[in-house]
Amino acid sequence: MTIGFNKPYFTGKETSYILEAVRREKISGNGYFTQLCHDFFEKRYGFKKVLLTNSCTDALEMAAILIDVQPDDEVIIPAYTFVSTANAFVLRGAKIIFADSYPHHPNLNADSLEPYITPRTKAIVVVHYAGIACDMDKISELAQKYNLFVVEDAAQAINGFYKGKPLGSFGHLGCFSFHETKNIISGEGGMLVINDERFMKRAEIIWEKGTNRAAFFRGEIDKYGWVDIGSSFLPSELIAAFLYAQLEKLDQIQEKRQWIWQYYYQNLEILAQKNLCKLPYIPEFSTNNAHIFYLLCQNLEQRTALIEYLKKQHIQAVFHYLNLQKSPFYTTYQPQMKTKELTNADYFADSLVRLPMYYELTETELDYIIQHIKTFFTTSFTSN
Ligand SMILES: *Cc1c(COP(=O)(O)O)cnc(C)c1O
Repeated sequence: MTIGFNKPYFTGKETSYILEAVRREKISGNGYFTQLCHDFFEKRYGFKKVLLTNSCTDALEMAAILIDVQPDDEVIIPAYTFVSTANAFVLRGAKIIFADSYPHHPNLNADSLEPYITPRTKAIVVVHYAGIACDMDKISELAQKYNLFVVEDAAQAINGFYKGKPLGSFGHLGCFSFHETKNIISGEGGMLVINDERFMKRAEIIWEKGTNRAAFFRGEIDKYGWVDIGSSFLPSELIAAFLYAQLEKLDQIQEKRQWIWQYYYQNLEILAQKNLCKLPYIPEFSTNNAHIFYLLCQNLEQRTALIEYLKKQHIQAVFHYLNLQKSPFYTTYQPQMKTKELTNADYFADSLVRLPMYYELTETELDYIIQHIKTFFTTSFTSN
């Protein structure tokens, strides 16, 4: 039997809520369960307005439409992220300007951004990697100084906080994911958080294929029609029903994940103290939502050996992003771009490895994984 990297957790209520949606005879979007999910997020995190989407990718695409990205506008994005963070803006014709991570953390290095800003810069997109907050004070200050939009890719950041304020509430827009690899899931799924009043009406229109259907169903207007561009960004009630079952158990899920994360950290700390590998760094200003537990190896060769070794022990550990600036798509999309080396993004692309992380991991399995990681670092590959 293999200990997989991820295993979706079902709270037990998902299928009965889906049946309930069917029983209500309304399974398209923006119905009973969608409203329950919206209310949950608005109450719990104080988000002014949220809209469920089919994915975080959808939410990012909506964000790109809402901030009105025009061809050749520039958008600053970390190179160490998932493709959707950039793709959403590429679809609007934007130029993507990749920026680097911190040396000690995969998040966008807020101190390195100013030189990237030009008169064409439209937005900064931050990614809260592993649910750990970016330095939002510094980023907001910069955005204000140059009049830029801030979009948060908070795909991994549910229930994460920066200085006590929830992630997703800092940017003009925030984007979450409920993909089955995230903490709270609905298979595919996501959410757009709208923090800037200016976007609230239009967001709803873009969400429903460019029509003012949502306002019509609230009785605010007497007929609905085509008023803007848009797409089908809203999920069906079946997805919302599934998600709601997860949201009811959010605290329980988070507590368990946090316990697992701490168990890894406390038991592997000795390796970091002996300088055999590095453990995640969490800045003072950020909480830890236990989305990912990762180790940093010395280099690509060592990481490949570790993944291979663990695989032989039936443990699935996985690397994460590649530096998007070096991707086959980007190098043909913006071939004329003079790019800087992004050495920290390269470092995380080469050295970061994620350990199994899911609700149902047992203490016995954790002990087994930890024991093999210790064996690897203390016998097969010593530092010097
Ligand atoms: C998972 C993820 C996405 C994509 O989310 P989907 O819901 O699968 O579209 C985007 N950005 C980051 C940082 C992610 O981790």
